[in-house]
Amino acid sequence: MKFGGTSVGTPECIRRAAGLVQQSAAEHRVIVVVSAFSKVTDTIVASLQAAKSGAGGEVASLCEGLRQRHREVAAELFPSGPAPELLAALEESCDRLVQICSGMGQLRTSSPQIADMALALGEEMSAVIVTAFLQQQGVAAAYVDSARVLKTDGKFGEANPEMDATAHHAREVLLPLVKQGAVPIVTGYRGATASGQLTTLGRGGSDYSATILGAAVAADEIWIWTDVDGVLTADPRVCRDASTLSEITFAEAVELSHYGAKVIHERAVRPARDAGIPVWIKNSFRPEVPGTRIAGAARRDFRTVKAVSAVPKASLITVSTRQDGHFAETLGRLLMRLAAEHVELLLSTQSSQNALGLVVRQPDEQRVLEVIQRLFRTELRHGVLEPVSVQRDIAVIAVLGEAMKGKPGTLARLFTAVAAQQVSVIAVAQGASELNICFAVPSAAANAVVHAVHEEFALADAVEAVPPVLQPEPLSPVMLS
Ligand code: ADP
Ligand code: ASP
Ligand code: MG
Repeated sequence: MKFGGTSVGTPECIRRAAGLVQQSAAEHRVIVVVSAFSKVTDTIVASLQAAKSGAGGEVASLCEGLRQRHREVAAELFPSGPAPELLAALEESCDRLVQICSGMGQLRTSSPQIADMALALGEEMSAVIVTAFLQQQGVAAAYVDSARVLKTDGKFGEANPEMDATAHHAREVLLPLVKQGAVPIVTGYRGATASGQLTTLGRGGSDYSATILGAAVAADEIWIWTDVDGVLTADPRVCRDASTLSEITFAEAVELSHYGAKVIHERAVRPARDAGIPVWIKNSFRPEVPGTRIAGAARRDFRTVKAVSAVPKASLITVSTRQDGHFAETLGRLLMRLAAEHVELLLSTQSSQNALGLVVRQPDEQRVLEVIQRLFRTELRHGVLEPVSVQRDIAVIAVLGEAMKGKPGTLARLFTAVAAQQVSVIAVAQGASELNICFAVPSAAANAVVHAVHEEFALADAVEAVPPVLQPEPLSPVMLS
């Protein structure tokens, strides 16, 4: 079970989360992963930025704010006063943040490795508080620093798990606790390299911690507790009438998160999919709602279009060769270099013989332009490549659903609805798998387009869950000798 920041953001939320753990632990063997309290990681990021720019006063006030918040939460959860060890642990985490920031302030520099030592502190503080509170409630909770278990490579800030080493440590550290009847409370988001250096899994990475650890211990299910009823047909902040999907496939979940749905971290889907473990997204504020099941194949929800999501700020970069240029070779070199630089493409189009359009997230734009400049210096100088053009402030809208495959008319309905908004489409791509249709529109029109698509495909109407039909086992041919 993983509890996100909003599910442990206040003393009241922690009591609710603890109740859910206690209830489940009475029937099942449970491992808990916790995020930092809501907004804590954002505040650490802000402290690091302030430290780097030499704003000592701001650093002091941000760090003091974090210290105060954790002290207050602890004071409220333990009416007769938090245990001295708990207070000491919280003070120590905050002191470490102050030290890291002060070192950075003096040097006016940072590195992803140093940043990770600070970023990982939020989970440390929330996990010690949640552990102590559960113990007070009579649950045999045991604090586990994920750095002891979740082993990663050294890509600080966006580390990748070493699955074999993690499975080994999970068997050594987590399973014995579970066997003794304890409930491990594990810090989300952070891990460590083989030599023990702290790493983080990228923002929103506690979901990833949960699926990595779930896969490592071969869990029956992975439950992600958050602040919405499950995966919804659209971002509820954009479409207030978005409905909850009872089921989506792993493939759909990957696409949805890639195109902006924050409800599950994009990389988190993979370990669960590889291990074939269903993931449930559930609302910690309304635990009676069943939530969304993410699994290999949908058994209940057969809508053609299931959801619409958007990346609101993107840029279209167009690279064109002269008519007689080596287009395929140029394109190949560029894509390989972008992959090496870990730039994710949102959408790409080649609709003329010699022009390639790449849509990337706006924060990646500068990096892509620098790559093009470095890679094609000569070609640009000699006019083999035309000057690169950039169109900013566009949004990528993704419309998805596995059942769109082979269904004629979906594109026509979609673009008629978009046209009715007087919005002109800048670029389009339909995945070969027909799992999704992506298109770019001006950023200013993104919300209107998301609404129009949501409306056109009647996504606000919840689909009644049809009970799964039990199929007889398929007959398999037998070779007779
Ligand atoms: P947590 O702190 O629990 O990890 P997040 O804020 O990371 O929670 O993710 C949950 C949020 O994702 C929701 O509050 C919602 O605003 C947002 N969200 C965006 N798109 C979707 C979607 N399609 N379905 C559900 N939630 C979505
Ligand atoms: N606390 C981390 C973040 O805010 C990880 C997470 O919440 O999943 O990015
Ligand atoms: Mg999250």
